[in-house]
Amino acid sequence: MRIGIGYDIHKLVSGRDLILGGVKIPNELGLLGHSDADVLIHAIIDAIFGAAALRDIGYHYPDTDEKYKNANSMELLKDACIKLNDTGYKIVNIDSNIICQKPKLAKYIDLMRENIAKTLGIEINQISIKAKTNENMDATGELKAIQAQAVVLIDD
Ligand code: ZN
Repeated sequence: MRIGIGYDIHKLVSGRDLILGGVKIPNELGLLGHSDADVLIHAIIDAIFGAAALRDIGYHYPDTDEKYKNANSMELLKDACIKLNDTGYKIVNIDSNIICQKPKLAKYIDLMRENIAKTLGIEINQISIKAKTNENMDATGELKAIQAQAVVLIDD
């Protein structure tokens, strides 16, 4: 068994969709990035790569590559899962945090879990997503960014 950790942060701006866990969430601000900027999925991908010592998300899907402009992060997650399975490891479980001051995410969490489970070919009970605010502090609390953290356990 091996464990991996992932972290990501994206800036909140107007004129962009807010996509978290593959769910488009109605909001006046969205996340800025080269891809669709799905901060939760990026943290999970980095945790998967970290667990298998497969470097990081920027190594596999560089943001300087036009191929990944507006990329659907769920497709990157699927590809990361294939790279993991190629090493002989499978995901045991994922735990994660989304740190987001606004909007409230509770009603979208199960949909995100379903999306991720489907993409990774695992059960919904193997995926945990917790939503927190930043108590109005720092960039995230001031609605300037959303952060995500993830840990992934893998086994052969
Ligand atoms: Zn990212």
